Amino acid sequence: MELQEKLRVLSDAAKYDVSCSSSGSNRKNTPGGLGNASESGICHSWTEDGRCVSLLKILFSNECVYDCLYCTNKRSNATQRATFTPEEVVELTLNFYKRNYIEGLFLSSGVVKNPDFTMEQLLKVVKDLRTRKFNGYIHLKGIPGADAKLIHAAGNYVDRMSINIELPSEKSLMTLAPQKKKENILLPMAAMKEEIQQYQADKKIHRSAPAYLPGGQTTQMIVGASPESDLNILKLSEGLYNQLSMKRVYYSAYIPTNENSRLPSIQTKPPLLREHRLYQGDWLLRFYGFSAKELLNPKNPNFDLDLDPKCFWAIENLERFPMEINRVSYEELLRIPGVGIRSAGKIIKARRMGSLNYQDLKKIGVVLKRAKYFITCKGKYFGGISIYPENIRRQLVQKPKEDQIQLSIFDLYSESILRKEGPGKVMGEL
Ligand code: SF4
Repeated sequence: MELQEKLRVLSDAAKYDVSCSSSGSNRKNTPGGLGNASESGICHSWTEDGRCVSLLKILFSNECVYDCLYCTNKRSNATQRATFTPEEVVELTLNFYKRNYIEGLFLSSGVVKNPDFTMEQLLKVVKDLRTRKFNGYIHLKGIPGADAKLIHAAGNYVDRMSINIELPSEKSLMTLAPQKKKENILLPMAAMKEEIQQYQADKKIHRSAPAYLPGGQTTQMIVGASPESDLNILKLSEGLYNQLSMKRVYYSAYIPTNENSRLPSIQTKPPLLREHRLYQGDWLLRFYGFSAKELLNPKNPNFDLDLDPKCFWAIENLERFPMEINRVSYEELLRIPGVGIRSAGKIIKARRMGSLNYQDLKKIGVVLKRAKYFITCKGKYFGGISIYPENIRRQLVQKPKEDQIQLSIFDLYSESILRKEGPGKVMGEL
């Protein structure tokens, strides 16, 4: 098969992988080297279906011997197959890079022959790229089940590695991806965490300590192909952040790619909105000090698709409101819908000069159309309605249009913006 045709097949096959953001990893060019990975990150482009891709986002191969039911590349699917050679991927990357088409490589693969063989091929690609002085960003997918030594070795050459957790429970993994084992996913994640921490400790002592996954590790979870609730999903993410120091968990709304009676048939749009709500909930975990069990509980195991998760939480906890904006702590400010990281910081700073009024909050950037139901300013309430859950809910119901959901998902992928501007800029004031 012509290289051009391989590229068409294998870039198309990679479009379902959403964890392709740049990491903000920063490496300068070296004398005689080629390119750099700067914190301005990778140029992103957007696919038709709204996924974020770097220009060279490819699979090494889609000739997969596994048969994961949710996957378009599964063995039993009749689809066009192709496999690069390591040399082809290296040449393509270097050529695209030199022409300024891309700022890095995102490389994943189906399981060719077996996990070890596949990982060896991927390792060869990234090792050769670095040997040829390629300093651009590399995000590599680790292959679950491959020898730990191969996965470890690849970590020495790439900026970020991710092993997909795939599904929110072991039971679903066994049902939908029977060839994948939970331990083959979690053990390498744990090993990578140790290595990354070691590298970070070494770097404090020797600035020139050899880099090991400077962009950390991420993972991806498919949402909607199995019956787990948002609570199950968010608890799992919380564990991944807390115990495995995961940089990001990406949620990918299940997209039916072919007929399969063991998977839910989805004709409508809710999965994308659910994915959006999960990203918002994830944001609340990571930046707003919420825990999964505060946001959701067995009585309300799923986010309300009509409300953003912070409004949903606030309405469920109305006894904590209204909060006097001139008195409450930074942590409490972050709990008010419409007050985000940036505006909470500005409120604390501005309060040092005197009490704030409603107009001041507007100037600060508080989203008053949400916040006004949950605050008082100098003792005055501006919500205009009695504080009852149903009253407030009626005012706050908001179904984002599809292009708004897509946009916010795009923004979420841009960690370069996150690093420069802070979480408020990326997600808005939740
Ligand atoms: S291992 Fe599973 S998810 Fe990955 S490409 Fe093969 S069938 Fe798809």
